[in-house]
Amino acid sequence: MNDWVKAKAIGKHQWAEGLYSLQFDAPIADFKAGQYIKVALEIDGERIGRPYSLVNAPQDRPLEIYFNEVPEGPLTPPLSALNPGDEVWMTATAGGIFTLETVEPAETLWLLATGTGLGVYLSILRTAEPWERFKRVILVHGVRQAADLAYGETLSEIAGRYGDRFSFVAAVSREQSPGALPGRITDLLTSGQLEAQVGATIDPATSHVMLCGNSAMIKDAKAILEARGLVRHRRHAPGQYTTEQYH
Ligand SMILES: Cc1cc2nc3c(=O)[nH]c(=O)nc-3n(C[C@H](O)[C@H](O)[C@H](O)COP(=O)(O)OP(=O)(O)OC[C@H]3O[C@@H](n4cnc5c(N)ncnc54)[C@H](O)[C@@H]3O)c2cc1C
Repeated sequence: MNDWVKAKAIGKHQWAEGLYSLQFDAPIADFKAGQYIKVALEIDGERIGRPYSLVNAPQDRPLEIYFNEVPEGPLTPPLSALNPGDEVWMTATAGGIFTLETVEPAETLWLLATGTGLGVYLSILRTAEPWERFKRVILVHGVRQAADLAYGETLSEIAGRYGDRFSFVAAVSREQSPGALPGRITDLLTSGQLEAQVGATIDPATSHVMLCGNSAMIKDAKAILEARGLVRHRRHAPGQYTTEQYH
């Protein structure tokens, strides 16, 4: 069983309506980039906890999560209302296997995210491992509105550090936005626009694809990747894509 520890909110950033990052100070155990902790609040006498990927790298503090408010959800409305100084519960140990440990050698690492699924990749990209293991890293962030594109400064820092080994593509589905590809990630994969944009091809011989976000994107992307010969990675049967479904 995972123990709960108290975590103190020490920073908060609102990126757009209903879209937040919270920073915490908490005595949690070492974790691997790509893992999640659970955050909980006492609501009507019951401890309600949900998993959140850590956005900070394992070597960095504060701990940070990136989330959107689900108005009908029990946890995210009160979570959004927290301010520095407030306390939450957090699991003392992070969990999950959506890490580079479950990624086989490849030339190009594709990181596809919808919405707050971006956060998990920022933790991974802030470690040395992807840059030691892959020639190129291509990060794709799919959102509905351009206002939901977040962490621009962090992405610029990574781009500045790794130059043309790193590509970032924003995909905005519900409006035209300068500098972003128009449409959903899956449609941009089907049309070939995404690969044309970065000058790389997703194929099983050279690529590993990580998928993080909503179930519709993951389901459709899996079908597209499998039609191209990629198979899901399993512990005893290595493959070329891995997934983390948030909802
Ligand atoms: C391994 C894992 C890691 C996760 N990491 C993150 C993370 O880093 N950031 C993050 O924002 N969420 C993350 N989630 C989702 C998160 O745990 C919660 O489900 C979410 O924040 C909503 O919590 P809630 O209690 O308000 O509503 P819930 O009771 O969890 O969900 C209520 C309803 O909203 C849907 N829903 C859940 N999340 C979303 C969403 N983001 N947008 C729209 N609808 C949603 C659910 O499918 C459900 O139908 C993760 C989930 C898993 C399984």
